[in-house]
Amino acid sequence: MRPKFWLLFLIFTIGNGSRAFAQRKLKTENVILITLDGLRWRELFSGADADLLRDKDYVDDREELKNLFWDEDPLVRRQKLLPFIWSTVANTGQLYGNRQYQNLVNLSNRHHFSYPGYNEILTGFADDDRIDSNDKKENPNKTVLEFINQQKGFRKKVAAFGSWDVFPFILNARRAGFPVNAGFSVATGPQLSEREKFLNQLQSQIPSPWGSVRLDAFTQHYALEYLRKHSPRVMYIAYGETDDFAHDGQYDAYLKSAHQTDAFIKDLWAWLQKSPKYKNKTTLLITTDHGRGVSNGAWRQHGSKISEADQTWFIAFGPDTPALGEVKQPQQLYTNQIAKTLAALLELNYTGEKPVGEFMVGVLP
Ligand SMILES: [Zn+2]
Repeated sequence: MRPKFWLLFLIFTIGNGSRAFAQRKLKTENVILITLDGLRWRELFSGADADLLRDKDYVDDREELKNLFWDEDPLVRRQKLLPFIWSTVANTGQLYGNRQYQNLVNLSNRHHFSYPGYNEILTGFADDDRIDSNDKKENPNKTVLEFINQQKGFRKKVAAFGSWDVFPFILNARRAGFPVNAGFSVATGPQLSEREKFLNQLQSQIPSPWGSVRLDAFTQHYALEYLRKHSPRVMYIAYGETDDFAHDGQYDAYLKSAHQTDAFIKDLWAWLQKSPKYKNKTTLLITTDHGRGVSNGAWRQHGSKISEADQTWFIAFGPDTPALGEVKQPQQLYTNQIAKTLAALLELNYTGEKPVGEFMVGVLP
């Protein structure tokens, strides 16, 4: 009896294993979602703006900024501003939202500012009536991250890091059950690394220009340290500086921050590609929560009254994403499609609590 039983058990196990293996079509095992708060598609696709660069109200040292980011050719200009995105990412991934080609990405919510934008990215639907301010109210909607954290194989494998102190509410950290380190949160836990201890110390010593947003370098290094220690399968990193420098009317700082964030993503990618747990198994999705105005003055703002504030963009790259580069075919995409696309990369079907935006065709083979 016994040997036969074991044989049967063995066959059953192998059969099951190979079926599961055969069913899995994608190479992606991990996804990192990244947002740059309020970075316009105009800078992403054309680099520094000529009018704003000339405006003394918004730029302290025009010569310095010209040396850093200016060229007559917008294709060179964008390369100067975002060198990693316009080399590695453009060569291996996909970029959507260049409206010069009628490739359109828009918000589906009608508010066109941060919390409604993040709610749309993270839940896959607009909730205009309930999510209508940036107040610190716990999100009644379940995000795709919360959904993934409840799936088999993902428990304790989801984490979020953000510069803005509203993220614990947007993600409803209390209910969601995965770590959210945002605003001026410090690294916690029984075995802090030397680096985490140092970051905790520095964060209390370096004043942020803003009351509710920390500098993105802290978010970056806390996130990298968490990756090293805990190997999450899904991570969300939300950079915030671009929006706040824009609100402050500092176009120079806005550009420098976008440039630095590009370098952060480059460092992150280099680290992932050196780690056996992540190398060639990790997809990055990058987007923004809203656009901003165009005319002088309006570029500082967003919201339903500002034209172009609903205009966004989307980037994907990783082992399953065909290298289409800058997508130039006319099409209309919406920010509400990101949540379902993120889940699909992990071969999970996210349906959400309300009808969610459809999966983005083209991002996967
Ligand atoms: Zn924002």
